[in-house]
Amino acid sequence: MVLRMRALAAAMLVSAALPAAAAAQTTPPRGPDEGKGPFGKLVIRGVNVIDGAGGTVMGPRDIVIENNRITEIRSAGTPGLPMEPDRPPRDADHEIDATGMWVMPGLVDEHVHAQQGGTPLTYAYKLWLAHGVTTVRGVSLTNNTAAVRDKAASERNEIVAPRIFNYQRPGSGWSGGSPDTPAKAREWVRWASVNGIDGIKFAGTGVDQDKAILEAMIDEASKLGLGTTMHHSPPVYPEVNALETGRMGLGTVTHFYGHFESLLKSGRTHPFPDDYNYNDEQSRWRHVAKVIDYTFEPGSDEWWAYLREQKANGVTFGPTMSVYEAGRDLMRARTQEWHRNYAMPSIWKFWEPNRTNHGSFYYDWTTADEVSWKRFMHRYMQLVNDYKSIGGRVAGGTDAGFIYSLYGFAAIRELELMQEAGFTAHEAINAYTRQAARTLTEPKGEGEPEFGMVRVGQIADLIITPENPLANFKTLYGTGTGRLNDATGKIERVGGIRWTVRNGVVYDAKQLLADVAEMVQAQKDAGGCAGIDLDWSAAGPCGGTGPTTPPVPTPTPTPPATPEPVAGPPGPPGPAGPQGPKGDKGDTPNVTITCSVGGDGRSISCTITAAPTSKLKSSVRVQNTKRTVTRSGKGKVKVRFKAPRKLRAKQKLIVAVSSGGAKRTFKLRPGKKAAKGKLAVTIKR
Ligand SMILES: [Zn+2]
Repeated sequence: MVLRMRALAAAMLVSAALPAAAAAQTTPPRGPDEGKGPFGKLVIRGVNVIDGAGGTVMGPRDIVIENNRITEIRSAGTPGLPMEPDRPPRDADHEIDATGMWVMPGLVDEHVHAQQGGTPLTYAYKLWLAHGVTTVRGVSLTNNTAAVRDKAASERNEIVAPRIFNYQRPGSGWSGGSPDTPAKAREWVRWASVNGIDGIKFAGTGVDQDKAILEAMIDEASKLGLGTTMHHSPPVYPEVNALETGRMGLGTVTHFYGHFESLLKSGRTHPFPDDYNYNDEQSRWRHVAKVIDYTFEPGSDEWWAYLREQKANGVTFGPTMSVYEAGRDLMRARTQEWHRNYAMPSIWKFWEPNRTNHGSFYYDWTTADEVSWKRFMHRYMQLVNDYKSIGGRVAGGTDAGFIYSLYGFAAIRELELMQEAGFTAHEAINAYTRQAARTLTEPKGEGEPEFGMVRVGQIADLIITPENPLANFKTLYGTGTGRLNDATGKIERVGGIRWTVRNGVVYDAKQLLADVAEMVQAQKDAGGCAGIDLDWSAAGPCGGTGPTTPPVPTPTPTPPATPEPVAGPPGPPGPAGPQGPKGDKGDTPNVTITCSVGGDGRSISCTITAAPTSKLKSSVRVQNTKRTVTRSGKGKVKVRFKAPRKLRAKQKLIVAVSSGGAKRTFKLRPGKKAAKGKLAVTIKR
């Protein structure tokens, strides 16, 4: 994800002004009960080995690890026969009996961020490790100071975290000002190369929207051994598409952006409607998927020519399909069963529909939008699968933390989506381990990576799991998967990774998940659920009342077309008439109105009650604004909405209430005393 410019500018301001404060969010040191090892000699007994190279399973095997390296992989017997007893070596410091289990390389995620919704780094770290993610490319993970710090601490096994590759946005961490010329851009890249930065993340929305600057940075990065990855945001299309950045030497095209723009039959962008606005995220998401109506078809000469040239240029595709799940099925994304125990209330709050938070774009997401996204994702999957099929490199990645996509769980979902795209299970694992590792180490010019495979000589970054992941990736979810036990007739949860080995340290994956659940509970106990919408968010960590049915709408009658009476001169007063009978009090309810405004200064919530109970209709708007929100109900009505901007101190709310023929308008300041009054009776002629 790319932060919107406003948010980015704010973040950069903060890190420039308060580097100490930004770095102060520390990751707790690894406790004595967090992970075991590394050991002088560790033996994992009796496993089936999926080595990550994309080949077949071999087993049973014993894996010998000395400190953080795999030093031997020995046969432990013959499939179908009892394993050989007393197998060497017998001098291990620690043994894991994983008889009958599977081992595969730890996952390497080419696209991550942490801290969404203000969650601590350690929250993402533990969810990643619990799902076997042992290496991440942060793009960026966090600010440069904290990323450099945690990268080093993780290498020393001092914190509970995956291996970190630290990619940053142009100009990040630097006091040299905005790198807004090609020369300054090269200067920042040189600075970055000696300040702990492993590579650059481009988005095409800042200085990198300029082709000359982008070209200069890619060129300088390749000279200095820095990697490059780019999210080709729509504002950059007039300058470059993914084919053109591939020709410049870009390392990774992350997400789908830029591919289809390279395949357009004409023009540099597909036609957007007049009301398209890149900064209105629902508009952005809605229209971006429509590009495939303007591109060359799968299987066409242009289709294959595009893929072949990207392959020839050594470009990696990082599809990050899992973060787009909400586009094609919003309800699926927000009702995942793991949200309840593992989504922190603050990240959940970040995901609720919101015009400010990046990615929370579903303000009024429609069936047509989902159909459009389903078509688009199908085409995108074809592209990714075809690229893999001609030998192009595809790397696993998630961009989790946005759009109801949760750290760790998203990695397993990505494996499933690769399979849906046409990858075999072996190919999906290969993309998420060996190929992603190559993507990260290749720019450094250090030859083949030392992690990403289960082979002698490799660093011990491993997943040990009781179920065969090739048969069902769902078994790798922390929450496992359901399986009917025919003996009992009951559904049982099976799977979940048992151990994750990272850099020779053995982590109990179940314990990591328990730690995360505890963090979620602690935030709930501290009042973290305040402000969560308990209707929309019933599947979230705060539970709630469950989805309610929308209120029965009161039809708005069309006013009769009566001509405006023209006032003549006033006549003389007439004689006083007789006093009429007193009206029925039941016809003119007493109403009470209370309104409050949320901490953001914009979220308005009004409750209107009527006694005696009667049918009510109420509209609320902010004084001097036009937007009016109307709700109907019996006896009690709640009106909630978000004002376009913060309310000023003296700005009032205009609340119109009607019941039967009676109506009245009230003005009140939110948060002040309730407004009370009797509805006036409309005089009927
Ligand atoms: Zn991202």
